[in-house]
Amino acid sequence: MLNISNIQHFSVGDGDGIRTTVFLKGCNLRCPWCHNPETIPFEAVKLNYPKLDKTEICGKKMTAEEVFKEILEDKAFYEESGGGVTLSGGETMLQANAVAELLKLVKQDGISVFIDTAGCVPYSEFEKINTYVDTYLFDFKTASEEKYAEIIKGDLSLVKENIRKLIKAHKNIRIRIPLIPDFNIDAQSIEYMCDALRELGVKKVDLLPFHRMGSGKYEALSKEYKYKNTQLIDKKTLERIKNKFSEYFETTIEN
Ligand code: SF4
Repeated sequence: MLNISNIQHFSVGDGDGIRTTVFLKGCNLRCPWCHNPETIPFEAVKLNYPKLDKTEICGKKMTAEEVFKEILEDKAFYEESGGGVTLSGGETMLQANAVAELLKLVKQDGISVFIDTAGCVPYSEFEKINTYVDTYLFDFKTASEEKYAEIIKGDLSLVKENIRKLIKAHKNIRIRIPLIPDFNIDAQSIEYMCDALRELGVKKVDLLPFHRMGSGKYEALSKEYKYKNTQLIDKKTLERIKNKFSEYFETTIEN
């Protein structure tokens, strides 16, 4: 069984072409800027939108066959746009066994598979699904072991080891860096991230500038959002960051 938060059709921000994004429930990290707070707990949660007179339950168990059936509804769009399926979360890799069952079906139909992950799990979890995955969208949030442990609540050495092993296994891996004010956008943090990624053998990075689009979900969950009043990154700072990464990597900015 897969523990699903929701399935988003016609998604354009989660990889190439038009995609169906399956958001999985449960995450082992605690990024305070998280845009999908409803996916963090493993159990189902209720979102209340009083102004819209709407409530939404995020969290249901589905079999691989049920999810696959829903994915197949969009197959014509994948073919036209070069799209496919993206599994995101939450942390996809925490459900690697069930994900492998689903991907086996998806690949029998020749559909492209992207996996969005923060990668803070043992490499053995990647080995369960590697043969079915076309591309990993792999988050890299900081090069500081201390910040990773204290703020994100994870183990950076595990993340780095997984990036190294996936590159060695010739897996297609796109490093995605969320740019977060007061966390990783100062010159020293950027420099450290460039050094760490070069050392790991990374060639390309996608930069994801901070946005506040998840703030409505915090309200709907009656949770405090620490980034509610944080300013977006200005153009000049974004340019400075992009220029720095471009010295070492093929760099794109995603919106
Ligand atoms: S890894 Fe992703 S889902 Fe988990 S807390 Fe961080 S941003 Fe949210």
